[in-house]
Formats: sequence, structure tokens, C-alpha cells
Amino acid sequence: LTGSSPSEVQLRNLTYDWQHSPQRFSDIGGYDEVKADLERRVLEPLLAHRDGDDRFSRFSVEPESGIMLYGPPGTGKTLFARALAGELTVPFVELSPADVTSMWINESSDRVKTLFDEAKQLGQCVIFLDEAEHLFGAREYSGKGSHAEDRKVTSEFLAQLTHEGREAIIVAATNRPGDIDPAILRPGRLAAHFEIGLPDEEARAAILRTHLSDVPSSLSDDEFANLATHTAGMTGADLADLVAEARRIAADRDARVLTREDFPSTEDLQVIATRLEPKTDD
Ligand code: ATP
Repeated sequence: LTGSSPSEVQLRNLTYDWQHSPQRFSDIGGYDEVKADLERRVLEPLLAHRDGDDRFSRFSVEPESGIMLYGPPGTGKTLFARALAGELTVPFVELSPADVTSMWINESSDRVKTLFDEAKQLGQCVIFLDEAEHLFGAREYSGKGSHAEDRKVTSEFLAQLTHEGREAIIVAATNRPGDIDPAILRPGRLAAHFEIGLPDEEARAAILRTHLSDVPSSLSDDEFANLATHTAGMTGADLADLVAEARRIAADRDARVLTREDFPSTEDLQVIATRLEPKTDD
């Protein structure tokens, strides 16, 4: 490791794929309340501390560093975690349960330890843990009916999570919040919870705008509003797909600007909506 500022950190030769996330909160359409909450509870205290501003520490206000994001698939939980790292300009690593369950299964808990050892060298960073219910489900936590090795991985994570002086910010995500053991959601663990639900009409329009911000397009406010009205039930990921297809259609017709016609008609959107998988939390 070389360099003193996070952007100078030499990230090669590390076991996990630490990256600097280019994403920012401005890349997330909608969800203004979640963004404001994350800013107030996580970003501002961390950035103030970094700048030597003691207005939070004066009142013993600790930044939240254990975060649980929950909501249906495709609603942008990973994007939120990446944007948090981007706003803080710190390294980011994403883990799925498969990443911590190595081929040599009895080494899995060692891998968790290695990860946190690396994180320590990096200083502040974001560790994103997807499908957290696999690690912190009631079964794994209580030990009832789980495999001994899974329990070892879970308890190593818990030990790291509660480690005094931990600088890594842990962001866990789940589509199944009901399966998470409540013990993991207590203070000192993953204590800050944020629901990332399906986007409402305003958020859908904002997501479409975000995904069109880097291409020439002629969509009026009314046309954005019309698309937002007829895409109820879609997630951010569904809307991103819709825009990707519209871009392709615009390119195919060698257009100068992308227009409303490059999106499905209102009638076709209704057909698409009826085919959408129901997105519930279980
Ligand atoms: P999963 O639970 O399946 O892991 P997720 O909630 O983590 O899903 P993401 O992977 O973050 O969802 O979202 C997939 C893609 O959808 C993002 O990379 C982004 O392109 C788009 N997307 C989702 N939500 C938003 C949003 N609010 N604003 C802009 N783009 C979004």
C-alpha cells in the first residue's frame, strides 16, 4: 500500500477486488429521503471527522458504520452502497455469500478474517455484503440447524463487526428482511436500517432522467411524466433496461436524438406491467 489519501491507495495485490466507485448519490434517481438520511447519519459525521470538525464528536455522535438496506431485487441497494463509497471516495468491495464460502470450505472463516485485515490496511472503506440473510439468518445466528462452518463464518463476521476501532463501513443488503436475526440489527452491529422500496411515480421519472442524462434526448417533462405513470411496479433495474432498449432503438434508426417513440407505447407498457414478476419481500 502506498499513498496517504484514499485515491492514492495502491490497491493491487490484495485478495479482494477493492475498487474506487465512480458512482455518486446524483446517479441515484429518486429516493431523496433515503439519501438525506444517509447523508445525515453516515456521510456528514464521517466527513466532519475527516476534516477535523468536532461538531459531532463534541456530542459523542458516532457516524453509523453498520448499515442494513432492505427491499425488493433491483431497487438499487448495490447502487446505494457504491454511491456511499463514491461520496466518501473510499475503496469498495462487494461480497456475495459465495465469495466467503471458498472451495476449501473449512477456510471460509479465514477468508472473512483476511478481508477485514485488508480493510484495516486501507483505512476507511465500504464492504458491501449482498444476500445478507444467508449470513445473518436466524438459523446461522442461533446455530440451530446450520452447518458448523456456516456458523464459524457468521461468528467471525460478528466478531469483526463489533471490533473496537473498526474503520470499515459495512453495508449489508437483503430482499428478505424477515429472515435476518434481530440480534444482528442492534446497536454496535448493523444498527442503521434503510428501506429501499419500489420507486414511486416521481422516483420513476427521476430514474429515467438519470439514465438518459448522458444521451441526446428530446423527452419533455410531460413525456417523462407519462412514462413514469405507465411504469408502476417497475424497479430501477427494470427502468434502466427500458432506457437501454430505447437507446438501442434510437441507434438502430440512426437518430439524432432519442424520442418518446423509442420507448414502448402506453399500451405496450401496460402489457409489460402485467408480465412483471410480483416484487415482494419474500
Ligand atoms: P439485488 O437485490 O438483485 O442485488 P439491488 O437492489 O442491489 O438488486 P442494483 O443492482 O443496485 O439493485 O440495481 C441494478 C441497476 O438498476 C443499477 O445498476 C442501476 O443501473 C439501476 N437502478 C436501480 N435503482 C436505481 C435508481 N434509483 N436510480 C438509478 N438507477 C437505478
